[in-house]
Amino acid sequence: MKFTQVFIPTLKEAPKDAETVSHKLLFRAGLIRKLSSGIYSYLPLGLRSIQKISAIIRQGMSRWGAQEVLMPLVIQKELWEESGRWQAYGKELLRFQDRHEKWFTIGPTHEEVIVDIVRNEAKSYRQLPLNLYQIAPKFRDEIRPRFGLMRGREFIMKDGYSFDMDEEHANKTYGQMYDAYSWIFRQCGLNFRAVEADTGTIGGKFSHEFMVLANTGEEAIVSCDACGYAANVEKAEIGYRQSAADGGGTSKPQKVPTPGRYSVEDVSAFLHVAPKGIIKTMIVKAGNEFVAALVRGDRELNLLKLKSVLGADDIGLASDAECPGLTGAHVGSIGPVGLKLKIIADTELRYIRDAVTGANEDDFHYTGVTPGSDFVPAMFADIRNAVRGDACPRCSKPMGITRGIEVGHIFKLGTKYSVRMHAEFLAEDGKSRPFVMGCYGIGVGRTLAAAIEQNNDNDGIIFPLTISPYEVALVAINMKDSVIADAAGAIYDTMLDRGLDVIYDDRDISPGMKLKDADLIGFPIRVVIGSRFKKEDLMEIKIRKTGEVVTSTRQDLFEKLSAIRRGLLL
Ligand code: ATP
Ligand code: MG
Repeated sequence: MKFTQVFIPTLKEAPKDAETVSHKLLFRAGLIRKLSSGIYSYLPLGLRSIQKISAIIRQGMSRWGAQEVLMPLVIQKELWEESGRWQAYGKELLRFQDRHEKWFTIGPTHEEVIVDIVRNEAKSYRQLPLNLYQIAPKFRDEIRPRFGLMRGREFIMKDGYSFDMDEEHANKTYGQMYDAYSWIFRQCGLNFRAVEADTGTIGGKFSHEFMVLANTGEEAIVSCDACGYAANVEKAEIGYRQSAADGGGTSKPQKVPTPGRYSVEDVSAFLHVAPKGIIKTMIVKAGNEFVAALVRGDRELNLLKLKSVLGADDIGLASDAECPGLTGAHVGSIGPVGLKLKIIADTELRYIRDAVTGANEDDFHYTGVTPGSDFVPAMFADIRNAVRGDACPRCSKPMGITRGIEVGHIFKLGTKYSVRMHAEFLAEDGKSRPFVMGCYGIGVGRTLAAAIEQNNDNDGIIFPLTISPYEVALVAINMKDSVIADAAGAIYDTMLDRGLDVIYDDRDISPGMKLKDADLIGFPIRVVIGSRFKKEDLMEIKIRKTGEVVTSTRQDLFEKLSAIRRGLLL
């Protein structure tokens, strides 16, 4: 395309509400525009990039056995009632009525629709496996839409769903989708990690989030460089290198006044004890039961881990008003000694001696408390968030923490939806069985934003070759100079003949503005036809990522371009 024929409204300044680099650059480079909160249009360059990402996704999905479909956006309430999600989904589900006052939603995800299709059509195990996906807009009324395409309300998603006859086949499909996703994000030129994520009630290692590594990511990832283990901090297991010998404490619990000191920080300063010498006690309501959860003063309780340890359906901290009746004290003075509740202590507390704890009396703490002798937990379990330096659960080497953006999520659903929605098939033994399902999502717009978040500099975007709106920008430095303009036009035609993905900047504006725009939009390869072309028949090829400049004659141009292109694909 010629620049003069494409709608590319670049801007010097980003809009005020743009906080992240990708949000700012998507606007400034003219890829998107905002309609209303969390709702965006893709302009030609943005759409081109989205189409390239989508093409890579389609290639990956088809190679690993999935087929594309397109489902309706608008879904009737009755179907969502079958799955129980009309009530359960909450305010993210946009609900509205048609002229007959029937309720509908714009799908935030499509399990219900796909289950309805498959239960009506696939009646026998012979028709399985089925793995169907679409690439389409979704609507989720996010409470805080932000960061542009990263967390929108209307956004483009690839959502896929698989149907298998049993666990074994479903696990195999899951593995195929894992491979497909790894391939897709590699093809997109992204530095990413597949991390183990929370599986809720399903259990097992059948939920992975694909995270693009970027300092600005919303998610914290715990990872081990030694063995490759990686997990979302919500889920990361912690290994233990036993740091202290088992054995009793050296002192008896002593009650000491701690007036007005309710936080770990304040108690630590007041009693001159490091936070790691304090045991934090939290009263938690799990289902209908109250339990006490203990972690070291410098650690954070992980409610998701505790929930799965207890096998509870829901979990939350007890309110401050509930605590005195259960423990004798308010939050901030509660402790495990003499407590009548079931106690779950974090594994790390096996090794703590002579610690400080609340005394179950407002404004008092105990010193000299040792688990095992001064109180006995019902169990020790891994119930805290991992931190930098914790031992890897696989190889015991210290783990690091990095930040990431979740661009994809694969999840084994099991029979949750097929049971609720009566989606069954006739198995080989003649019995009716529910389908074993999996679901697989990719945020297409979020992938574009994440790619920019990971690849940019002060001048603008640095697009990975495969997802750049155009691979090559051809810039004629002075359109008024007919020698340059004619040569550039001819080279552009040859580039098109040879199938290059090129945009030709034929605008009659200053060279500075052209080069600035090319850097801002982040085309991976830039070919400049300027003064040296007239004198020496030389053009300059610049690689956006490295800043490297190569000169070339017209004759060598295509050979050099393909070598550079190959280099960028490695
Ligand atoms: P998050 O925790 O970020 O809200 P999610 O767990 O709700 O994500 P899924 O339901 O698994 O997301 O959706 C699949 C993919 O869709 C996500 O991995 C993400 O890339 C993308 N996605 C989800 N919500 C949004 C959104 N509001 N805007 C853009 N992309 C989104
Ligand atoms: Mg969400």
